[in-house]
Amino acid sequence: MSEEFEAVIGLEIHVQLNTRTKLFCSCPNTYGEEPNTVVCPVCLGLPGALPVVNEEAFRLAVKVAHAFNATIHQESEFYRKNYFYPDLPKGYQITQYTRSIATDGVVEFDIDGKKRSVRIERMNIEDEAAKSIHTEDGSVLLDFNRAGIPLLEIVTRPDMRSPKEARAFLERLKQTLKYLEISNCDMEKGELRVDSNISVRPVGQEELGTKVELKNLNSFKAVEDALTYEFERQVKAIKNGEHIVQETRLWDEGARETRTMRAKEEAHDYRYFPEPDLMPVSIDEEFIKDSLKNLPELPWEKELRFERTYGLKKSQILVLTHEKDVADYFETLVAKLKKLTSKAQDAVKLAANWMTTEILRNLHESGVSISEFKFKPKDIAELLSLVLKEEITLNIAKDVFRKMQETGKGATEIVEKEGLKQVKDTDFLENVVKEVIEENPEIVEKYKKGKTGVLGFLIGQVMKKTRGKANAGIVKNLLEKKLSQ
Ligand SMILES: [Zn+2]
Repeated sequence: MSEEFEAVIGLEIHVQLNTRTKLFCSCPNTYGEEPNTVVCPVCLGLPGALPVVNEEAFRLAVKVAHAFNATIHQESEFYRKNYFYPDLPKGYQITQYTRSIATDGVVEFDIDGKKRSVRIERMNIEDEAAKSIHTEDGSVLLDFNRAGIPLLEIVTRPDMRSPKEARAFLERLKQTLKYLEISNCDMEKGELRVDSNISVRPVGQEELGTKVELKNLNSFKAVEDALTYEFERQVKAIKNGEHIVQETRLWDEGARETRTMRAKEEAHDYRYFPEPDLMPVSIDEEFIKDSLKNLPELPWEKELRFERTYGLKKSQILVLTHEKDVADYFETLVAKLKKLTSKAQDAVKLAANWMTTEILRNLHESGVSISEFKFKPKDIAELLSLVLKEEITLNIAKDVFRKMQETGKGATEIVEKEGLKQVKDTDFLENVVKEVIEENPEIVEKYKKGKTGVLGFLIGQVMKKTRGKANAGIVKNLLEKKLSQ
């Protein structure tokens, strides 16, 4: 990245609201049905069909607006955005244009330990287009099941100064939308889509450079990659004395570059006008209050509570609270584990470490979510309680966890059947220690000459002989005692 120049980035996000039915008709809002089976005259745009506004879409939008501290407008209005495209049966999209449900919000997030905030300019409720499917033989198929699903359009101010920051913003936004349960935000299913614009200017310059729009960003990684490519392309062009052309460019994932899609001259005139089939929408304070009932704890509130309640490191808190279900699992695990042991603080620490390493790695490797994870918090609490009671070592616990996954059996059963209980028998361990000392005269010599670092090696040898079951603390004491004689 060039240090003489900075990026000025704005984002436009479209997220499908998971209402029960579509925005202007009673067709169910579903995914994956047989093409063109979830349609009616309204969402097919047949002549004479009249739209009716879905109240639930407004409730969900109000939640999002509230979460990001935006001004909620009691009066909003739908407009027609006219353009001609095969996936748009009506010949226009119905959107809120300038009379939005909400304006002036802010999204706060951490990046490299620093607080950042990005302003939201507006949020609009609008309807989704049909889905075009491009086949190999070059024809285009249309699935109208998607037509009319409610979207929330979220437009930011150009407040981001690097591609990395844009990605961090998107992660926070998606996390919050998922916490609010207003959308599944699955980008592969198109439930969340991102367009971006970026211009470049010398650091310190107030005036904005020429803006380029980026499309076809199918993942947050693609957003970051495309913006990085585009930033470098623009800086290079400016340094070469070229003019940046105002245009829309497509991100080509395969070629890892952006390409011109359409220039400004070809831009559409959408001929917006108020939707004559719908009255302006009016929501009263009662409606807003009602929509905000049972609002869940939001990510930043949970982070703060985790810090106060559990006293964990910030990095660990961010991992544990990234997904609501993971945070819930952790809290249940801690509660169950505390019931099985008197060491409350150790229980929290061990549960946090186990969650952020073993369990999340396991989920990542097997590609399942925490809700699909086959072990419930009580199963893991049983395993970890054995560690806290010093019945098994941490290393053995990892083995037991592996065996739990292979056999589906409980931790206690595995430990008992396989004789994995920690060896704390001092007489027995003393003999093993003696053996190890006899077998490693050179190492012992080094230790006696002051290289006490070799103690770890000797402990390791005792562990090997006891198949990892020896209590490390006892072994260390025994070794030190014997070696000082
Ligand atoms: Zn319909």
